[in-house]
Amino acid sequence: MQQHWDVEADVVVVGFGAAGMAAAVTAHELGAKVVILEKAPEGEEGGNTRVAGQGYLNTSSVESAIAYLTALCGPFTVPEAMVKVWAEEMCLNNDWLATLGGDPQEHQHPPVGIEFPDLPGSDCVHKFHDGPTYGYSYTWKLFERLVKERPIQVLYETPGKALIQHDNTKEILGVRAMRGDKPVYVKARKGVILTCGGFENNQEMIRNYLPGVPYCYTSGSPYNEGDGITMAMSVGADLWHMNNYAGPSMALKVPEVRTTFSMQALHYSKQPPGGMIVVGPDGRRFTDEKFKTRHGKVPVNGRWLPLSTPCPMYLIVDHAHFSAGPLYDGHPSHGWTQIVEKYDWSADNSKELAKGWIKKADSIGALASVIGLDPVTLEATVGRWNGFCEAGHDAEFGRTMMMTPIAQGPFYAVEMSPSMLNTQGGPRRNEKAQIVRPDGTPIPRLYSSGELGSIYSYLYQGTGNLGECLAFGRVAARNAVAEKAWG
Ligand SMILES: Cc1cc2nc3c(=O)[nH]c(=O)nc-3n(C[C@H](O)[C@H](O)[C@H](O)COP(=O)(O)OP(=O)(O)OC[C@H]3O[C@@H](n4cnc5c(N)ncnc54)[C@H](O)[C@@H]3O)c2cc1C
Repeated sequence: MQQHWDVEADVVVVGFGAAGMAAAVTAHELGAKVVILEKAPEGEEGGNTRVAGQGYLNTSSVESAIAYLTALCGPFTVPEAMVKVWAEEMCLNNDWLATLGGDPQEHQHPPVGIEFPDLPGSDCVHKFHDGPTYGYSYTWKLFERLVKERPIQVLYETPGKALIQHDNTKEILGVRAMRGDKPVYVKARKGVILTCGGFENNQEMIRNYLPGVPYCYTSGSPYNEGDGITMAMSVGADLWHMNNYAGPSMALKVPEVRTTFSMQALHYSKQPPGGMIVVGPDGRRFTDEKFKTRHGKVPVNGRWLPLSTPCPMYLIVDHAHFSAGPLYDGHPSHGWTQIVEKYDWSADNSKELAKGWIKKADSIGALASVIGLDPVTLEATVGRWNGFCEAGHDAEFGRTMMMTPIAQGPFYAVEMSPSMLNTQGGPRRNEKAQIVRPDGTPIPRLYSSGELGSIYSYLYQGTGNLGECLAFGRVAARNAVAEKAWG
């Protein structure tokens, strides 16, 4: 039994994003002393929440929300009791934030509307953000303020490493965290709530759990390394939804920068000038490059499956596209690279060309040799694409946007990697937000919320993650605070 504690609280929250905020603020409002442990340094907390599009779901009817989530889960069913609690709480997000002084604004996100309008109950979808517009961390700024204006202690650069469990009762008594190379023992008199995000930046977990990708990189927080999964598994937790994620898309990843670069040409709604295709390692196209995936899923034989991403993939563009402006979409509305890394991409792409992130050659055949593809195949692929453009019909993949031939050299290639917004899997939780064992029994005094073990098992409705963080953050906190203190 742990005897020495450095920090004590009623409720210990691990991770300061949306889910951590909702749990901490709710527990505080119910009279609990709350401590938040956060892995990132001050200024880089907030996780994916900080750099998200900032929309959160507030559903308009419990019945429709039940129908919609049930349909989204499809054959990957989720217990009815969970769906019901989700639906009931998702209707209350706005009221809760408004009571705390928020400014909920309804917004039809340009990038994500009702994602599956044909599914029953989809009319329940109403997306909100705080402040004047979506993006630009506005909703996060509210969340941050709600924590900071309360006496809730946030310990930055203090990642949770292990849960401290009673040998006999298996209750969770606290957390062993680290500050630098020193352990910090944090006592939780009532309970621990894990809200430390997914495994977006843990390549081993990605290889083990995500379908079909040998690697995948995040456009969100690099601090989300699956720590909550490791901690929860070590005390006996079951896992769920590990194979579901908001991805993949295709983006540039370089070793010097922790997160991905999104390309202008691959944004489904943008039509920059010049010609562009993406090819796989066999030098052939494999998809409609401009298709608006449903958070990474595409229709295949009447089902939605993750976009196939044969790695390595190459974005091939002509000089008209290259010279029209930066290949990177650095607009700072969302994304870690744009908002936190603030990478300054050169206006004429020259810096990135010099770094070797962009490869250049005078002919398509020579470009193929530079990137290790078969020149004859790549020339044939580009020739076929140019023919489709002339005919006004992509006979292979039905693409309708940027139907411009790859015409004038020099030609350029950028290696694309699978990229994602966030994972959905983690420790399985029940309708009380308790983390459960494989036999369904709760691990005493252990709760979770957010994308760490989210409810989304198959299809995903945009803004559903932040909405769920708020909903289950409140549920977790209410139940944790209701526990009898053990000491
Ligand atoms: C670019 C982008 C756009 C998105 N847009 C939207 C959107 O508009 N709407 C929507 O609903 N969803 C969106 N998402 C998804 C959504 O942002 C996330 O699913 C959601 O923010 C998850 O919140 P969370 O609180 O569970 O985790 P996070 O917000 O990721 O917070 C986790 C926190 O835990 C910390 N942490 C990690 N490990 C530890 C540890 N061991 N100890 C202590 N702390 C730790 C991290 O540093 C981080 O601060 C987007 C994601 C991205 C990347």
